[in-house]
Formats: sequence, structure tokens, C-alpha cells
Amino acid sequence: MSNCAIVGINWGDEGKGRMVDLLTEDYDVVVRFQGGGNAGHTIVTDQGKFALHLLPSGIFRDGVINILGNGVAVDPENLLDEIKQVTDKGVKIDSSNLKISDRASILMPWHRDLDGLEEARLADKKYGSTKQGIAPFYSDKYQKKTILAGELLYREDAKAHLLDIMEWKNLILTKVYGAEPYTEEMIDQWLDDYAERIKPFICDTGSLLKEANEAGKKIMFEAQLGSLRDLDYGIYPYTTSSNTTAAFAPIGSGYPGAKIDRILGVVKAYSTCVGEGPFVCEMFGEEAEKLRQEGAEYGAKTGRPRRVGPIDIVATSYGIEVQAATEIALTKLDVLSYLDKIPVCTAYMLNDEKITRFPFTAAQYRATPVIEYLDGWKTDISGIREWNDLPKEAQAYVEYIEKAVNCPITYVSVGPERESIIIRK
Ligand code: GDP
Repeated sequence: MSNCAIVGINWGDEGKGRMVDLLTEDYDVVVRFQGGGNAGHTIVTDQGKFALHLLPSGIFRDGVINILGNGVAVDPENLLDEIKQVTDKGVKIDSSNLKISDRASILMPWHRDLDGLEEARLADKKYGSTKQGIAPFYSDKYQKKTILAGELLYREDAKAHLLDIMEWKNLILTKVYGAEPYTEEMIDQWLDDYAERIKPFICDTGSLLKEANEAGKKIMFEAQLGSLRDLDYGIYPYTTSSNTTAAFAPIGSGYPGAKIDRILGVVKAYSTCVGEGPFVCEMFGEEAEKLRQEGAEYGAKTGRPRRVGPIDIVATSYGIEVQAATEIALTKLDVLSYLDKIPVCTAYMLNDEKITRFPFTAAQYRATPVIEYLDGWKTDISGIREWNDLPKEAQAYVEYIEKAVNCPITYVSVGPERESIIIRK
């Protein structure tokens, strides 16, 4: 038995999707345990390039069962769109390879409305929400004001429950934001258009996971975003509204008793961050623009240019600790091949003191990065598949990071394609 969680160590966009896609070959079940359509994994397969938001990354592998666990914000509208985009390119998705937990809460159109209305109200003070309704969704879930996927299997009950919730939502929409209310006709339409179509995928995924585990099948838990976006351990309030850490995987997957044997943390060879919030190692100007272009650092969901910087040892060490990562996949090493000298953020200066412990969010605004430089390799490494064939400067960079963060780097990714990987075990 060997279960594995693949998690992000930093601010998200580390390349988790490509690692899940690579490793799903060895796993029978892939489960998403948190988050919703607010972030994206990009995966390149023989069938093309796919931007996934809700679908688990195992969807491209024959025989793999993909689950949206109870911790996920299931948005039927977005999910059905995504299924269409993927199936249009020839990938098979049906109730045999995609399952939605009957305990998963459903993200409703009003969650997206409220997200947009609140960001508009905040104006300059906005958090940089992707307006996918994630924060309103999770707050409703904790207030017990959502409908569970399993309820959709009983249309009349689901409708009655939704009408109750709608009454309360309309108060907020109209009285707080001056927006239009929802109506019973809209609920009927929503049930016809979306709820009916996701019904075939809804089942008791908890039992399925337990049985799979007992039968010796291998389960992979797939996270969205990274440690620093975790609601409890990240850079609150610039976090997401769910727990992105491996410790939450058993809870959010539907199998609270699951044991995770292996936690693969994904770290990018440099840093990126989308949206607002502190980002101590941030680079600016031409240097930043060049790195952004070389790494194609634009959001998978929003197209927004990502903020960029050198690898941050302080943030990465903290991220590894929070995830309890047992090993690291270092991605996008090929992107750094243009640099003469590779910058590394080795510590922060805070109040004239050099610190290596990731500080509280408010202190991060006052911290400045300590940058050191390692030699570059100045040659294309994207075709390299063996560790020993990497230029010695690239090996030295990987070994430096491994030592600094005190966690073994078992994979080095040198391109987005499935085969562009160096396995170091
Ligand atoms: P995720 O949310 O953590 O899966 O990350 P994203 O999908 O937002 O970002 C990863 C991006 O980098 C995608 O476009 C990948 O295809 C690409 N990518 C992943 N690994 C590598 C790599 O090693 N080299 C290069 N050049 N691109 C990579």
C-alpha cells in the first residue's frame, strides 16, 4: 500500500499538474480534496494542452478513477464546461472514471455574484479574487448554507432546500449590495441545466476510497495552490479559503482514516505569486519581465501576469514544514538556462536582523530579501533525462537547494511534457 499526496510548497503554480499527470501512471485513484475552479493546472499530453480547474489530473489516464472529494467546491456549471473542453479533444469522461462525492457542497451562481460584488465594493483594497465564488462558497459551507451534491439526487428535496437558501441569499444580494434577487424559475432552470447533468457522477466516494485502499489500490491526493495559500498556515488574508496542506487530504477526500505514505512537495526553480499580498523576494523591472517571459508566467485561469522572483529558501523551507513533505519535485529548471548568475533568496532582513524563519504576514511587508548568486549553466537542458548529463552548475544549483531546505529532491523537471523529467532516486 502506498498513498501519495502531491502538494504545492509555495504560492501555487509550481507545476503540480504535470507531476500528478506523470505519477498517475502508478496510481489507481486520484482525488482532489480542496479548492474549486479558482486555480488551474496545465497539463500537456499527446492529446494537447489542457488547463484543468476542477477535474483531477488523472483524467487523462485510462483506468484511473478520478474523484472530487467532499472538500472541493463543486461548481456544476464550470465542471460541465471543463468536461466538454476535455472530451472535445477526445478524452473519455463518464461515470466510470469521474466521481463526485455526495458529501461535496455545491457552488451556486450566487457565490460567483457575491465574490464579484464584494471585490467591487473593496475597490483598491481588494484581495485579488478570481471571482469564482470560492470565498463566499466556503463561508456558506461553514454556516451550513450550502446544498450537498447528494441532495441533487432527490430533485424535490433539493429544490426546497435551495429555495430556503435563496431567500436568505436574496436578502444579502438586494439589501447589502443592491443587486437583483434570484427567483424560483431560476432555481428550476439551474436544476434542469446543471444539476441533472452532473447527477450520474455523484456517489458515495468515501466507501469507494476505503474499499480501494483495502484492496491494495494506490490513491493519490491532488492539491490545488500551495502551502502559503493555506487558510490556516498561509499568508492570511491573501490565502485561499480552504486548506491546501496534505494533512487535510484525508478529511477533504472523504476518507478521514487514510494514511499518506508519501508527500511530494512541488517547488518551482524560481518563485511566482499571483495577486495581492506580501512577496518578499519579488523582482521588478527588466529582470522580472525577462524571467516572466522565459517561464511563460501568466495565470492559467485569469491570464494575469504573475509576480516573479528568485527561489526563496525561507518561504520554501516553511512550506515544506507545513506540508510535512517527504520529498521534492523541482520544476522548470530549464527556464533558468538564460541566466549568467542564478539569484537565490537565502534569508530575509527584518529590523536589521537576518532571519531564516518565515515571519508572520505583517512582518513580511517589512522584510527585505538577502540575495546570493550561484553560477548559471547557459545551455539548453530541456532534452536532458539523466542526472549525470546535467551541466555541473545545474547539478550544483539543485544540490544547493536540497541542502538549504533539508528535503530530498527526487524529481527535476526540465520541460512541460510528460517525458521532460529527471528522476533522481
Ligand atoms: P500548477 O497549478 O501547480 O499545476 O501549475 P501551473 O499549471 O499553473 O503552472 C505550471 C506551468 O508550467 C504549466 O504551463 C506547465 O505546462 C509548465 N511546466 C511545468 N513543468 C515545467 C518545466 O519543468 N519546464 C517548463 N518550461 N514548463 C513547465
